[in-house]
Amino acid sequence: MSRVALVTGGSRGIGRAIALRLAADGHQVAVNYAASAASAHDVVEAIVARGGTARAVQADVGDADAVASMFGEIEDHFGRVGILVNNAGITRDDLLLRMGVDAWDEVIETNLRSVYLCSRAAMRGMLRLKWGRIISMSSISGISGNPGQANYAASKAAIIGFSKSVAREVGSRNITVNVVAPGFIETDMTDKLGSEIAEEVAQRVALGRLGRPEEIAAAVGYLASDDAAYVTGQTLVVDGGLAL
Ligand code: NAP
Repeated sequence: MSRVALVTGGSRGIGRAIALRLAADGHQVAVNYAASAASAHDVVEAIVARGGTARAVQADVGDADAVASMFGEIEDHFGRVGILVNNAGITRDDLLLRMGVDAWDEVIETNLRSVYLCSRAAMRGMLRLKWGRIISMSSISGISGNPGQANYAASKAAIIGFSKSVAREVGSRNITVNVVAPGFIETDMTDKLGSEIAEEVAQRVALGRLGRPEEIAAAVGYLASDDAAYVTGQTLVVDGGLAL
């Protein structure tokens, strides 16, 4: 069945692949972005060129007013959001001793406050639909920790606890709440770490290579589908065996 899907941070990287995947699966997709309007419109064009339906929607997902007006825009245009993918995320890496308050706050606001704001906004429509899928992007850093990422790992670990709690709250209403925890995936976020780190990480991955955005999108496609109707409160690690 065709649903309305919102992918936060759908303009680039993993979010772009998720938007394309959900559109290919027959859903109407709202492609959220903060600053990259041209990239978000490229994603919409790619979806439309393949016969799908999509719309770019701008909002800083850490901002409560912006999230409220984004949901208004999506509901006016497509109807209630049935599939929410909380994908938008940033890093501001530093060792804890050097990590300033701004780096802490920015990461918590973009990666975690956004999940609370968007999930709460989507929930009202999902209760009416009597169906819903909330899928949030954590990270292997949120499970195992990573030096230089105390802020990021804290935000990503919190998403897991948040999702388990909300899964218990709304399970009886036919709404599932799950998490995907990627390992090291080739995107702009990891490009900036440089090829030396990428090669070093690839050697620690059981499958011997970095992941592709489409491989994360496939996990999201599954969790959004009817095949995952009896899966909730779970964290699906998609890391090629990095954290084994
Ligand atoms: P990316 O290439 O840096 O793209 C980030 C996306 O998030 C962009 O579309 C960006 O939109 C959007 N975004 C950032 N701040 C936003 C805000 N305040 N409001 C709305 N959108 C915002 O990142 P990625 O590698 O695809 O990562 C996607 C998700 O997967 C993140 O949650 C990340 O933490 C997680 N993850 C990634 C990896 C990896 O190896 N790449 C591993 C584990 C987890 P604009 O361009 O408009 O700013």
